[in-house]
Amino acid sequence: MKRKQIVAGNWKMNKDYEAGRDLTKAIVNALKPSDTLVILGPPYIHLMNVNRIIKDVSNLELAAQNCHEAVSGAYTGEVSAGMLKSCDVGYVILGHSERRAYFNETDELIAKKIDVVLEHGMHPIYCCGEPLEVREDGKQNELVGEQIEQALFHLSAEDMAKVVIAYEPVWAIGTGKTASPEQAQEMHAYIRSLIEKQYSAEVAQGLSILYGGSVKPKNAGEIFSQEDVDGGLIGGASLKADDFIAIVNSF
Ligand code: PEP
Repeated sequence: MKRKQIVAGNWKMNKDYEAGRDLTKAIVNALKPSDTLVILGPPYIHLMNVNRIIKDVSNLELAAQNCHEAVSGAYTGEVSAGMLKSCDVGYVILGHSERRAYFNETDELIAKKIDVVLEHGMHPIYCCGEPLEVREDGKQNELVGEQIEQALFHLSAEDMAKVVIAYEPVWAIGTGKTASPEQAQEMHAYIRSLIEKQYSAEVAQGLSILYGGSVKPKNAGEIFSQEDVDGGLIGGASLKADDFIAIVNSF
């Protein structure tokens, strides 16, 4: 089965209104038609405007970087899945290691966010990955397995098929250190085997698993060429149109 190839940009808390608009326009102008799905994940305030700029480009979609787990209510400062859906958001990044570390998000909370995103017809991009000390102890499969099981295994097979997984070793995010192509392949194959065991070969083979962690134009090609790597979640390099487009073109 041919899986969807995806390159998703996570702008994090970067770019003011004008810079976000300029970056989006530069990406739209440079993007060539291809089978790769390209996803832009700007901060909330950009969503409406980015959507206006990308809405006629067929392989370009919009992601939010978070959402609240409740449908609506008195949660000052928060944004709901329904609000995102109304801005044409198709994907929501959930479980990012920065949200786990700085906002104390647990797999239990992330599971609720995954549910509300699916209920609103959007796709979660579920991030998992081990910190350095866990990798040094050789316990990465155990930890990532737990993250997958606790956040995802309550889903039906039908819902699981709508999820995108991003494996992001915490020690490689924003550090300039990248997992070797072999390390990425090994973990992606392991994640796919867990999905196959819990669901089926069909669900596992259809699932796009992205790699994230210091992906740059110079290393993207080698990482993306691994059999179980279906693309990337890109932080720093998604902030420069040339770098981001070079990564998209490296399939
Ligand atoms: C990320 O934050 O999801 C990420 C992969 O960041 P970077 O590419 O900067 O390591």
